[in-house]
Amino acid sequence: MADDNLERSFAILKKTIPLLLKHKVTAVPTNYALWYTYVSNESSELNSAVDQVLDNNVPLSEIKSKELYRKHLADNEEVSAWELRRSVEAMLIELSQSLQDTRTETTSFKNTMDSCVDDLAKVEKEGFSVEEVMALVRNLVKDTQNIRRCTMSFNAALTEAQDEIAMLRAQLEQSQQDALYDALTGLCNRRYFDEELATQSLKPKLCLMLVDLDHFKKTNDDYGHVMGDLVLKATAKKLQGKCRDGAQVFRFGGEEFAIIVPNSSLSKARIIAESMRNAIQRIGVKDKRTGKVLGDITASIGVAEMKKGMNPLALIEKADKQLYEAKRLGRNRVMPMM
Ligand code: GH3
Ligand code: MG
Ligand code: MG
Repeated sequence: MADDNLERSFAILKKTIPLLLKHKVTAVPTNYALWYTYVSNESSELNSAVDQVLDNNVPLSEIKSKELYRKHLADNEEVSAWELRRSVEAMLIELSQSLQDTRTETTSFKNTMDSCVDDLAKVEKEGFSVEEVMALVRNLVKDTQNIRRCTMSFNAALTEAQDEIAMLRAQLEQSQQDALYDALTGLCNRRYFDEELATQSLKPKLCLMLVDLDHFKKTNDDYGHVMGDLVLKATAKKLQGKCRDGAQVFRFGGEEFAIIVPNSSLSKARIIAESMRNAIQRIGVKDKRTGKVLGDITASIGVAEMKKGMNPLALIEKADKQLYEAKRLGRNRVMPMM
């Protein structure tokens, strides 16, 4: 992002924060996005919707905020999370820095006052009347003590503000984590996959696998969704355990996983796929309620190799076609056969 762009979003954010505080809005990224867009005036619809709520002197509830976010922003590419993150970060860095500077200043002021008192003590020795000097000293000591007290409470306030900033930063990091990782399996998610595939597709010799659990709807129906979730977690672990030489597993969606295999021929990727299929077959998930072990989990896998002139989407389609073939031929297999 260009610097002036950063400065602009920084300026918007500086106006956004006081609004968040004024309206007692929880500091979560969606609310930042909502109020950030409000301040930036990018969506007149959003602004009139927010104004309408505020005109009625009703506080903007969590639910209403979520609804507004979903309606006006969820699909809006204009408020990119990236831009938001950058500007919040810029603000945090500046705030941190200015707090640090203030703290240094107050500390040095305290030191000056201290040495002043020392100097006066010397003057006393050099012939001022004791009363005169003592009056000065008393005043100075009083002032110094005041300032020291102020400094201390100011420092405490600054420390508190800095803690808050550290917390905000952690929250932001968490939200970025959430944006790229799948909460159930801990794998990188579909969004991450799209970015990674776009990057990897620029390099030669790339393969892609699509793994889809067989009859998973029935697994859920027979054993319940909670068990289904455990199967997905176990599958993710098995797939990850079989990744070598830079291969990377993603949760592609639902009960589907994608593996990007860089620097690999189709036959090599196929061997990895076979070992993954085998590993999935060996999964056993224990049902704590009944003590029974849920087994017989199988997956079908489609493998495709990137050819010259293909784009990432074409590679996904090719792997998906092979996956469909594997299903059609009876499941629990890797395609193409070779
Ligand atoms: P096929 O062999 O043709 O792939 O059959 P399938 O039943 O696996 O395929 P289908 O697409 O009909 O069903 C997929 C099921 O996966 C349905 C959905 O409820 C389940 N599923 C998707 N995501 C999750 C999840 O996060 N947890 C659980 N427990 N189930 C999920
Ligand atoms: Mg599926
Ligand atoms: Mg399936």
